[in-house]
Amino acid sequence: MNLYDYNTINKVLSKHGFTFSKALGQNFLINPGVCPAMAAALNADEKTGVLEIGPGIGVLTKELCAVAGRVVSIELDKRLFPVLDETLADCNNLEIVEGDALKLDLNALIAEKFAGMNSVKVCANLPYYITSPIIIKLLESRLTVDEIVVMVQKEAAERLTAEVGSRECGSVSVFVNYYAESEVLFGVSRESFMPAPKVNSAVIRLKLREEPPVKVSDEAHFFKVVKAAFSQRRKTALNCLSNGLGLGKAQVASALEEIGRSANDRAENFTMEELAALAELL
Ligand code: SAM
Repeated sequence: MNLYDYNTINKVLSKHGFTFSKALGQNFLINPGVCPAMAAALNADEKTGVLEIGPGIGVLTKELCAVAGRVVSIELDKRLFPVLDETLADCNNLEIVEGDALKLDLNALIAEKFAGMNSVKVCANLPYYITSPIIIKLLESRLTVDEIVVMVQKEAAERLTAEVGSRECGSVSVFVNYYAESEVLFGVSRESFMPAPKVNSAVIRLKLREEPPVKVSDEAHFFKVVKAAFSQRRKTALNCLSNGLGLGKAQVASALEEIGRSANDRAENFTMEELAALAELL
């Protein structure tokens, strides 16, 4: 079955009475170049397990099954199960798990489903409405996966992979950088989807680090300080930190001075080492 063909998709979806749910971020890929490129980016083999989030009608899932030893795909929308039974009937190394990727215990799922695999990777065309929470969950849970290759909105891709110390950097860029090395692999136009969303997308790779790039004594506190430092883009770090953390300006100014920064600097100019040092001081 050609899952990139508009008529084939319409036929199988209407046979099962399926209608797209905007709330669940259901924009299915129809550009035949995208899924093979995402699957190839994994450099997977028969000892690789792949965890997918949101198979839709299985267009990416099918490519993942072709390159990996085992694929487990989490889908929230039960209406897609009979569709997937038909579209992925030939995939013998696939298991579809019903559930909400935000609520499932992914560590337990990986341990159970991928025992004996040499490596595990996450690959998905993420539903836009859960991009940030799912990426935060994937990174914070310290999953035993070595990389995450996902499609997200183009703007989100730029923010998630922005270099720390660059104009585009925000608190989420620092968060990602703490856990992973990131890169944008390629862009994907809005016309590549059915139905077409309003925005373009991009595929990013997050290669999980074995050790964070900086040592912090309290991760929760570090991320609280980072969030405060980036809370207002046009304001100085002094104002952001003092407002966001409820600290006196003199205390924040003295911490900034100690790391060699002035009261006029903005958080987007800071390095990881400077942000870590600030968190220790405040
Ligand atoms: N992989 C397919 C493709 O590329 O065509 C579908 C991608 S579509 C952008 C997102 C998929 O995620 C849909 O199948 C949707 O039902 C599913 N989904 C939405 N929220 C989810 C959640 N919280 N947990 C698991 N799956 C979810």
